[in-house]
Amino acid sequence: MTHCCLLRADLSDLFVSVQGEGPLVGVRQVFVRFAGCNLACSYCDTDFSARLHLDWKGIYDFVAESLPVHSVALTGGEPLLQVRFLLQLLPALKDLGVRVYLETNGTLPNQLSEVAHFLHWVATDVKLPSVAKVPPQWKVHEEFVRQVPDGVNLIVKVVVSEEVSEEDRERFEALLLQVDRDMIIVLQPVWGREKETVPLLLDWQRRLLRIFPHEVRIVPQVHRCLGVE
Ligand code: SF4
Repeated sequence: MTHCCLLRADLSDLFVSVQGEGPLVGVRQVFVRFAGCNLACSYCDTDFSARLHLDWKGIYDFVAESLPVHSVALTGGEPLLQVRFLLQLLPALKDLGVRVYLETNGTLPNQLSEVAHFLHWVATDVKLPSVAKVPPQWKVHEEFVRQVPDGVNLIVKVVVSEEVSEEDRERFEALLLQVDRDMIIVLQPVWGREKETVPLLLDWQRRLLRIFPHEVRIVPQVHRCLGVE
C-alpha cells in the first residue's frame, strides 16, 4: 500500500490486553490508544497524553505480530479526532482481516461517517451531564448514532453514579427512542462506586427493559479487577 503523505498518529499507548468494558468483556484485543480528547469528564482517569508517534505501518506490524486476537480496539482519548490517520490505517487492517472495535465519546458524527464502513462495532459513550459534568451533548449524540450503518454493531454505554439526575435518565431514554435500530445498552458504574450504585442500576435496567426491546446489561470495568490496562 502506498500513500502520498504518510501521517503519524499521536498515540498514548499500543498494547495487547483483554477488553474490560461492555458486551465484549474478556476478549483479547490489540488496543490502539489515541492521544487527546475533546471532552473533560469528571470521572476520567485515562492518561491520553501523546507518547508514541506511529504511521499506519507501525501499527499494522504490531497487530500482525500480535495475532491471533479477537479484534483491534481503537480507543483514547478520542480516536475520531485523528480521522485522517484512520483513513490510512483502516484499509490496512481490513487487508489483514482483523475486525475493528471503535470506542468513542460519540460527539464527532462527521468524522464517524468517513470511517464507519471499516468498523465492526461502534461502542458509543453517551455523556450524562449530571455524572460526567460536561455540557449536554444530546443533539450531537443523536446525530452520531444515526451515522452508524445498519451492518455495524452498535453499543450505547452510559457511565452511571448515584449523582445521575432524573432529567438525564429521561433524556437518555428519549434519545434511544429517537434511534430506532438494534443496539446493546450498557450501564457502567463509575469505578470504585459500584456498590452504592447497584440499586440504582438495577432499577434503571428494569425501567429500560420495559421501554426497549434491546439487551440492557450492567457491566463494571472488568479489566481493572484483573489489574490490567
Ligand atoms: S470522553 Fe473518555 S477519554 Fe475523553 S475525557 Fe471523557 S472519559 Fe476521558
